[in-house]
Formats: sequence, C-alpha cells, structure tokens
Amino acid sequence: MLQEETTYYESLNDGRRVFYRGELVPNVVTHPVLGKAIHHAAVDFRMAHDPKYHDLAVVDGLNPYSRYYHKPQSTADLKQRRDLIAEGTRLGGTVVPLIHEIGTDALFGLMEATYALDRSQGTHYYPRVQQFWENARDNDWALAVAQTDVKGDRSRRPAEQPNPDAYVHIVRRSDEGIWVRGTKVHTSVAINAQWLIVLPTREMRAGDADYAVAFVVPINTPGLTLIASPYLGQPLNPREHPLSAHHKMVETVTYFDDVFVPWDFVFLAGESAAAGTLAKAFVEFHRFTAVSYKLPLLDALLGTASLLARYNGVHRARHIQAALSDLVIYAMTVRALLDNAADRGEAIEPGLFRPHIPLVNLAKYHFAQGLHQAFHHVQDIAGGLLVTPPAAEDWDHPELSPLLETAFSGQNVTGADRMRAIYLASDLVASDLAAYHLVLAVHAEGSIEAERMTIVRGFNWTLAEDEARRLAGIDRHTIDEGVSS
Ligand SMILES: Cc1cc2nc3c(=O)[nH]c(=O)nc-3n(C[C@H](O)[C@H](O)[C@H](O)COP(=O)(O)OP(=O)(O)OC[C@H]3O[C@@H](n4cnc5c(N)ncnc54)[C@H](O)[C@@H]3O)c2cc1C
Repeated sequence: MLQEETTYYESLNDGRRVFYRGELVPNVVTHPVLGKAIHHAAVDFRMAHDPKYHDLAVVDGLNPYSRYYHKPQSTADLKQRRDLIAEGTRLGGTVVPLIHEIGTDALFGLMEATYALDRSQGTHYYPRVQQFWENARDNDWALAVAQTDVKGDRSRRPAEQPNPDAYVHIVRRSDEGIWVRGTKVHTSVAINAQWLIVLPTREMRAGDADYAVAFVVPINTPGLTLIASPYLGQPLNPREHPLSAHHKMVETVTYFDDVFVPWDFVFLAGESAAAGTLAKAFVEFHRFTAVSYKLPLLDALLGTASLLARYNGVHRARHIQAALSDLVIYAMTVRALLDNAADRGEAIEPGLFRPHIPLVNLAKYHFAQGLHQAFHHVQDIAGGLLVTPPAAEDWDHPELSPLLETAFSGQNVTGADRMRAIYLASDLVASDLAAYHLVLAVHAEGSIEAERMTIVRGFNWTLAEDEARRLAGIDRHTIDEGVSS
C-alpha cells in the first residue's frame, strides 16, 4: 500500500508527547514550525502518487509498495535507491525527506545483524525484524531512527557513566517484554514519524549488556518524550530563502522514561557482542543513503556558482575558473565513489546487497572533508551580497524597485534575476541552512573519524607490505623473524 499524504498528516495527531520551546505541542501538523518539516517530508507520498515519479518511487506488483522498502539485491537496486533518495532531496530543496530512508537502512542493518546472531546464538530476533519490515512496507510507514545516545563522558563505557541514563538501557524484563530508560539525541524526523527504531550506538562489552538493546515503538508510546530543536525555526521570507523557507528537518532530544516494549518489537536485548555489529550494519547502509542525498546539494552549489560567475562577468577570470574546476572535480569524485561503492557491493545474508564498505565510507569522508572548501568557493564567486542584500520587500516598493533593478542589472541578466541567484546562493552557503548542511556533513551518519577508521581498517596492508618487500628484494620470513626476536 502507498500511504496518502492526508492519511499521513492525520496519523500524526495521535497524542504524541512533543515539546517545542518549553511548550507541549497539541498537534504537530498544525504547529507553524513543525508543520513545515512535516509538509517537507511528505514529498515522499506526493512522489509515490505522482505518475511522473511512479517508476522511480514505486515497486509494482499485486500490492505496489514504496521503493524505499525494497530490499537491495543488486548494484542496480542500490543505484535505483540512490536515484530515488536524490530526487526526493532535489524536490526537497537540498534537504533530505528522511522518513523512509533512515528507517529502511536500519531495517536492512537489523536483518543482517539479527540473522547472523540468530544463527550463531540461537536467538529469535530475525523473524521479528522481518515481520516488522513487512508491516512497515505494507502500510508505507514513516520511520525515524534513534541510534545516537547523549553519551555523557565519551571516554567511559555505557555502564561506567556517572549518569546511568546517558545510554538507553533495559531497566526491567518480564514475560511480556522489556522496559527501557535513557536519552538519545539528534533524532531526525521523530516528531513526524509513525514509528521509532532504536539501535545501539556503539560496540558493547559484557558489563554493558543492558545497554545492548534494539527495538521499535510507535511515537505515541507512553513514556516517550520528544524535545524538538528550534534550529531553523524562525519564519523566513521565501524570496530571500528559496530553500529554507519551505524545507527543514527537525531533530529531537528523545527521552525514554521506563518505556515498555513488547517482545515482538524487541530486536536485541542483552547480547552485548552483537551491539557493535548491528551499529555498523546500519551505518554502512546509511552512509550510502547519506552520500545519495548529498548529490543535489553538490549540483546546486555548482549551478549557482557558475550562474553567478556569468551574471557578474567574471566567469573567464583564471581564479574563478580554478574555483569552478575544483567544484566540478569535488562533485564528480563524490559521485564516482558512490557509483563505485554500488558497483563493488556484495551479496550478504539474508538476501541483501550491501554497498562496498571502504568505498562508501570514502565517498562520505571525501564529501565531508570537501564541503567547507566548496562553500568557500561559492562564497568567493558570489561576493559580499551574500550577507548584504536588500530585502525582498524593497523590490516591491514603487520607488526602490526601479532603483534596485538598475543597480543590479548586469551581463545578460535583469537586476531582479541576479538578486534571485544571490538569494539562492545566500541560502545555500551563508544562512542557517548552510551551517546546518556543514554540521550535518561533519557529524551526521557518524563523525569523520569513524569514516576514516573504517576506510583504513579495510585497507590491505599485508598486500602493500608484500609488494614493498618484493620491490626491495626482502625475504618476508627473515624480516618477520627479525622483528619478533
Ligand atoms: C543534523 C543531524 C542529524 C542527525 N540525525 C540523526 C538521527 O536521525 N539519528 C541518530 O541516531 N543520530 C543522528 N545524528 C547524530 C550523528 O550520527 C552524530 O552527531 C554523530 O554520530 C556524532 O556524535 P555526536 O554528535 O554525539 O558527537 P561526538 O560523538 O561527541 O563527536 C565529537 C568529536 O569527538 C570525537 N569522539 C567521540 N567519542 C570519542 C571517543 N570515545 N574517543 C575519541 N574521540 C571521540 C568524535 O570523533 C568527534 O571528533 C544526527 C546529527 C546531526 C548533526
């Protein structure tokens, strides 16, 4: 089934406990700030019902379903998923909708990790994940994922924290289920999801067993409180902010106060050795999603930089050409790495196709490391008007409008159009949205260091050293013995 946009909106008025700026929100859909994020995310449902996007967004059959729920089984599946994510984000003005992407990444990661755990430990988690995935697919549910815990002192393990609730953990078990307590943070789209999937954020040791927990709950489940971030919550003029006036996500502090989870919805409960496997299984799918939704931002940066260089008559200047070339090389490298991660993906149990792990991390790392420099190039090309433009209202004023038109008209461009391009550039690289994109690039889907470690861990040092030995004429056994003696 494909969910209708109106059904989605109605479903969110379900008594969920959401706070915004210290006030309990009676209905998130009619809230001026949260409602904007909800309308933004609903692009998924608009696309699925639009014949123009049918082939991209829907898997046909007796019971058509959203392609987001399709389990990737080949390179082609990963690339279709990439294209769907990129198109949704393009329609979302460079902001990812996320209500299907992150949840399905979590379900694929859960399938991979629980299947392996059930086989090695005789647990029975995988059938529950499979059942939830089927229900979610058949109802086209909107999902959020809370993986990142508030974490307290990063140098201590979960069970060593002075605040025992710094990581979500099991506080009670019964024949019916488990009760969980603790605080997650940065949870995107929780206010506008229908279900929340909870995953461990790191590997755990035996002493952390109660913290090795994964489950899913409806957002209105008793004891769950969402404290919404007000970032990008101010009203914005749509002409001055053509992207961020319409599009945003909302993150929450996500507090579990002895929340009850029936066993059917528990996917991990105390198997500490599996927590790290599960955390990683999710992020490898999720980093592929991450780079897929970065592509529209890269396209927007390139197009805007080139347009403004032309409007300002500087597109032939050597340093502008160099900046534009850097942008092209950066964007093409990210895209090529993502393609390569799909091309060199691998079939894994139970019937999934996973992107190539070092390459998908390399794609995310390269994107994250290069974005600040890319913003710098666009800022350089666009000039100071990024932060000093006249207001949209000035262009409507009978006296000011002709004055501004004359002042800003330029090479093959009206003053009004040049200002539209400036407003777009400003929204992209000199606004609160720009800061959001930069921090998102560095931290979301894992910090840069996490990606670096995964890339280097996957590198074959033995092969490299063997080649160096061969070139140098060193006998491997002699050296190994020498080192160990
Ligand atoms: C906009 C946005 C949306 C997000 N959406 C979601 C979401 O939907 N769901 C979700 O679960 N998460 C989400 N995240 C969280 C994201 O995955 C985290 O921000 C990321 O994992 C980093 O965690 P942190 O923010 O707590 O920073 P920290 O972990 O505090 O990292 C800060 C620095 O400390 C370093 N560091 C951390 N721990 C250690 C250690 N033990 N030893 C050495 N160095 C360390 C890091 O490498 C980094 O350099 C989102 C984040 C952002 C910014």
